[in-house]
Amino acid sequence: MNRYPHLLAHLDFGFLRLRNRIVMGAMHTRLETLDRPVDRLVAFYAARARGETGLILTGGFAPNLEGRIDAEGPLLCDDSQLDEHRAICAAVHREGGHIALQILHTGRYAKLPECVAPSAIRSRINRYTPRALSAQDIRRTIDDFARTAQLAREAGYDGVEIMGSEGYLINEFTAPVTNQRDDEYGGSIANRCRFAEEIVGAVRRACGDDFLLVYRISSIDLVEGGTSADDTVELARRIESAGASILNTGIGWHEAPVPTIAASVPRAAWSFAVRRVKGTVSIPVIASNRINTPELANALLADGTADLVSMARPLLADPEFAKKAREGRADEIAPCIACNQSCLDLIFTQRSASCLVNPRAGHEIEFSDAPAEAHRRVAVVGAGPAGMAFSVDAAARGHSVTLYEAADAIGGQLNLARVVPGKGEFDELLRYFRVRLQRLGVELKLGKRVDADGLVADAFEEIVLATGVTPRVPELPGIDHPKVVSYVDVLSGRKSVGQRVAIIGAGGIGFDVAEYLLGDAEESRSPGNFLSAWNVDPSARNGGLDRDGMSPARPTSRRVYMFQRKRDKLGAGLGKTTGWILKARLHKAGVEMTSGAQYTAIDDDGLHYVVDGEARVLPVDNVVICAGQQSERALYDELVSRGIRLRLIGGADVAAELDAARAIEQAVRLAAAI
Ligand code: NAP
Ligand code: SF4
Repeated sequence: MNRYPHLLAHLDFGFLRLRNRIVMGAMHTRLETLDRPVDRLVAFYAARARGETGLILTGGFAPNLEGRIDAEGPLLCDDSQLDEHRAICAAVHREGGHIALQILHTGRYAKLPECVAPSAIRSRINRYTPRALSAQDIRRTIDDFARTAQLAREAGYDGVEIMGSEGYLINEFTAPVTNQRDDEYGGSIANRCRFAEEIVGAVRRACGDDFLLVYRISSIDLVEGGTSADDTVELARRIESAGASILNTGIGWHEAPVPTIAASVPRAAWSFAVRRVKGTVSIPVIASNRINTPELANALLADGTADLVSMARPLLADPEFAKKAREGRADEIAPCIACNQSCLDLIFTQRSASCLVNPRAGHEIEFSDAPAEAHRRVAVVGAGPAGMAFSVDAAARGHSVTLYEAADAIGGQLNLARVVPGKGEFDELLRYFRVRLQRLGVELKLGKRVDADGLVADAFEEIVLATGVTPRVPELPGIDHPKVVSYVDVLSGRKSVGQRVAIIGAGGIGFDVAEYLLGDAEESRSPGNFLSAWNVDPSARNGGLDRDGMSPARPTSRRVYMFQRKRDKLGAGLGKTTGWILKARLHKAGVEMTSGAQYTAIDDDGLHYVVDGEARVLPVDNVVICAGQQSERALYDELVSRGIRLRLIGGADVAAELDAARAIEQAVRLAAAI
């Protein structure tokens, strides 16, 4: 008996049987912008099928030119475009998987001057105002959806997903705020559903009954004036009657002022909206958003929330998620930590997706699983992200690895990140490395500050230094004052700080320290607290957002002041999809942010600084230094001076703008090369 009977149960549609309930949600990877795009896409999807994913949904393909996400956006409207799709479908089928193509018309979100919508109302996240579709345009668009679905069938796809959520075109028809038409496609709920129903009907007629038709419904829009819960329920019923095989559930529009998938969103926080849809229809329903473990996925199926579970990012992090769950190796699943750093943040800044935890994602063709030609004795110094990732991959290739760590625990800087409210998922990453290091037989020497003599005496064939970073200490009068503490002291709990705190340096760590000092871990653990902190109305009378506007200020007795020398707005370098969340939370907690500051001294009176030529003093109990890092290279310098050949990775190599993504990628690439 396996531990996840609901998740691993097959699902039979008569003409097709899914091997389990795990769906890879659609994600636009932008792999088509890299070299050898077809090979990459084939390898990317084949890896997820080989990992036993039940159903794969591709990234979105537009059914016509004005429906593309931008001028380069993927499109499927002509049979001359079918070769790449045939190759993808064949590869997935060879691995025993199933795959459906997502048809996405982006409506008023298209970054195109010719974008269209039900009504000519511009989105706040697009500079282009859409043209309202005429009745004739609507008929043509419905035909375009049917044509794309037919092409998908011809290419070998097992079905299509019609994207009706996230604020894209179909969702714009269903929500009153974007549909102000007075013809048969606007006004009453029956009229607002008509476009969606006609698309589903046309696709079903074009593709026949033995074809999966997934419709992604917006289970809660999270915009004022969005679809109400009653209207969502009505839409779900109509979509089922029109011929859908499965209802997938989307959460929130792209312009919603509420985080929906970031790490600070508690796991499965949106199940209430999925349950509402599930309670309405008799076709299978897919749950999505912030579901990243087989335990949770299985529990959501067991308690009747849904019939399948969609995971996009978790399958970037580990393409073998389903296989490992089936084989009883769930503790070896590389976890998605919901950081968005190497996936959505890259996609939304016009780069291709990968994964912080699994840099092979999207780069499958650049790696081989072949064992190393010669097995070597390798010493790795430093068990931070770079050292752990290298050790695991090198051991998996057959090398004999000894990993030295001066501290009593593995993790390095990850141990600091994990205590920040909303970053609890880093615990999962540490758990993963701990399990993998042990199973692969890496000899772990904790609490051992190895020196050059020790490494030389052991005659290792390869030495890899991942000794990490030390915090930069700015040259500033009073830097030795007892008020001054480093971010390491604060996040490690070695030093406590008072009620009035200044933070020098506003990079990722300065923001993390501010969040830690104001801490509200409850919000990221309890769905109820999270929803009320972000003003979400679960009964969705008005699109799911409380009309009363701003959520209440965060209760905090501590005053935090953040500073940087640059004149830019603070937080400009934070991740595209998560920085706004952090800034909104700190704003609500009354954090004061000062840019263009020149620090002149720290003394008993507090922090002295100059802004716009004016000298000021801020009375504070403590000043936390978050001024970046420098490479820790003492051991490197000594080994090099003795003429010893070695490799340097992670922060010990380059400290500037170091993040775990860069450290892990460098480590994984080196392990693949030795
Ligand atoms: P960072 O991003 O390089 O920021 C360092 C900060 O210190 C800057 O605000 C800089 O601003 C200031 N600074 C630099 N030299 C200084 C000096 N001599 N005196 C005073 N101030 C100085 O470094 P970090 O915040 O330590 O983050 C390290 C890496 O971790 C980053 O690359 C980041 O990607 C990653 N990280 C990201 C997140 C996130 O995105 N949420 C969270 C944690 C860590 P001025 O020069 O303008 O003063
Ligand atoms: Fe998950 Fe982060 Fe990887 Fe994206 S980059 S898939 S959020 S772990």
